[in-house]
Amino acid sequence: MSVAEVVARGAALGVRVTISDHISREAPTTVDSVAAIEHYLDDLNQYDVLRGGEFCWHDALWRELPPALLRRFTHRVGSLHAVRLLNGSYFRAFSQVMPADLPPHVYMEAHVASLEALAGEMPVDVLAHPTLVPPPLRTIHPHELWTEALEERAVHALVVGGQAFEISNRYPPHERLVRRAADAGVRLSLGSDGHAREQVANIAAPLALARRIGVSDDALYDPARHGSRTGAYTE
Ligand SMILES: [Zn+2]
Repeated sequence: MSVAEVVARGAALGVRVTISDHISREAPTTVDSVAAIEHYLDDLNQYDVLRGGEFCWHDALWRELPPALLRRFTHRVGSLHAVRLLNGSYFRAFSQVMPADLPPHVYMEAHVASLEALAGEMPVDVLAHPTLVPPPLRTIHPHELWTEALEERAVHALVVGGQAFEISNRYPPHERLVRRAADAGVRLSLGSDGHAREQVANIAAPLALARRIGVSDDALYDPARHGSRTGAYTE
């Protein structure tokens, strides 16, 4: 979709739009270098949109952006598209097959340890889809994957790190974890995580979840009101 089409779609749904394209050296995104990011932001400047971007924690590109470039974003999102295993290697969160030496509880330990590392070192405003796990694990009930101790660690990391918790429409988090985050004072962020036309700007389910657990609309993360770690709204 063009930016103009996304804006029109947001207007039709009553949603103020943030564009948060993937920014990574890895395919399939083409926003994969400082020059490409400058071009991306120049493009967004022509529209009435918030200028976001979704950065992979495991890809060092985010570490190499000059401050002046960071300030051109309104806010930024960080993601665990791969988690770091105990041996130091990275395991992709979209892997279709889980190796025998990576049972669910070992994977989840790596997931939460990676989440803690991201929260501690990545100056982003939102943690995207905190519960994204590889497809083979998605059939397991989240209360089996996530012990309450793991949830406590994840929430504590976000409290200290200052990132908001995204309620993703694409990878919906389970309610117990969202409630735990909100109760601890972590801001919630609503994300369509739209990868297809019909998904773009659709935040109905994330909004319903936030309201169901009693978070007021005013308390949801809004970079224009709550600022940004490094972006245009820093002040
Ligand atoms: Zn993502």
